[in-house]
Amino acid sequence: MTTADAIVVGGGPAGSTVARQLREAGADVVVIDRARFPRDKRCAGWITPQVIDTLALDPDDYRRRCVLQPITAFRTCRLGGRPIDTDYARVVSYGIRRWEFDDYLLARAGARLVTGRDASRLERAGGAWVVDGEWRAPILVGAGGHFCPVARRLNPRARSAAVVAAQEVEFAMTPAQAARCRVAPERPHLYFCADLGGYGWAFRKGDYLNVGLGRLDRHTASHARAFLAFLVESGDVPPDLPSRWPGHAYLLHTSAPREVVADGVVLVGDAAGLAYPESGEGIRPAIESGVLAARAILAANGRYRREDLAPYAAALGARLDTPPWRRALGALMPRPARAALGRYVLSTRALTRRIVLDAWFLHAGQPALV
Ligand SMILES: Cc1cc2nc3c(=O)[nH]c(=O)nc-3n(C[C@H](O)[C@H](O)[C@H](O)COP(=O)(O)OP(=O)(O)OC[C@H]3O[C@@H](n4cnc5c(N)ncnc54)[C@H](O)[C@@H]3O)c2cc1C
Repeated sequence: MTTADAIVVGGGPAGSTVARQLREAGADVVVIDRARFPRDKRCAGWITPQVIDTLALDPDDYRRRCVLQPITAFRTCRLGGRPIDTDYARVVSYGIRRWEFDDYLLARAGARLVTGRDASRLERAGGAWVVDGEWRAPILVGAGGHFCPVARRLNPRARSAAVVAAQEVEFAMTPAQAARCRVAPERPHLYFCADLGGYGWAFRKGDYLNVGLGRLDRHTASHARAFLAFLVESGDVPPDLPSRWPGHAYLLHTSAPREVVADGVVLVGDAAGLAYPESGEGIRPAIESGVLAARAILAANGRYRREDLAPYAAALGARLDTPPWRRALGALMPRPARAALGRYVLSTRALTRRIVLDAWFLHAGQPALV
């Protein structure tokens, strides 16, 4: 039996962040991940500057080994509608490749890594958690993403209407494909579905192109097929881009969130269902939850009853919960009215900038968690 101060199940951005924070405070941390790193993760790979700040990432060091694509503008439209270019004339976001980003963060965390091992059996014994009969610690962090076994244990019957199903492909373009790609690296394209039930994107990071589509219903596959045809027809992307777009699901943060703490356990990132509801951005909430969870664990000072860890749930709510007045407004407005408003916003240059980009996608009004 290997003992540690903390076991983290999942080494994605949420898991590596909590592991790093605990390691920096001197804790002995084991991270168990079913994948061997570097590993792929379905993701457009878009992050905001707040993520860089919270991670205290040195952009120069990072880009020495990895792609860090600055973004200074966006092209937005309703599928088939007139595109609007919003130019910020400064860096407002970055593009990363998850293959590199997650590997970089996990290595930097400095934890003991157990990769290529599926954590499945979770037992409570003598006030500690034992994972698969092999690893034992007084605190267990569930950071295993949407299918996290720790999250399933805490929320066995959880159901949520706010599940995003998304499909995506990222590939290195050949020189001929790069020459035909009309997506500028510093200006990703966002294409909102006509019913506003989701959106597609085309996002170039150097010579890598990432295209995909996510929706809040069961029709992602058919919309993704139609989107691929639209993209090729529009001439925005090379015509011979891969047609197989693998998929993944994850939860948006809603007013009825999951249980995120129990005796000796906390959930972070997608395991806790934290992605921003408007944009589907999940990396920032994953990282912020990692920081908040580590702070709560350290403040609990070895006493890990549910009530000792409750400050984490409260801090998460304060950071991510939609204000009650906005929830009430949303609930009051019938769906067709919301869709009509959305269409109006997307066709108006100033509102696209203020609402869609600044508020929903960039969270410009919310400073980084440091
Ligand atoms: C198509 C798509 C596009 C997206 N685009 C963006 C984007 O551009 N920007 C953005 O901010 N967010 C995006 N997201 C959301 C974002 O990818 C997630 O919110 C984010 O990865 C959450 O990080 P995490 O660390 O919680 O989970 P993950 O990154 O999913 O990491 C979980 C880890 O746990 C491991 N694991 C799972 N089960 C087990 C187990 N039983 N035992 C051991 N290990 C296990 C996995 O191997 C994985 O390494 C996108 C999502 C999708 C599906």
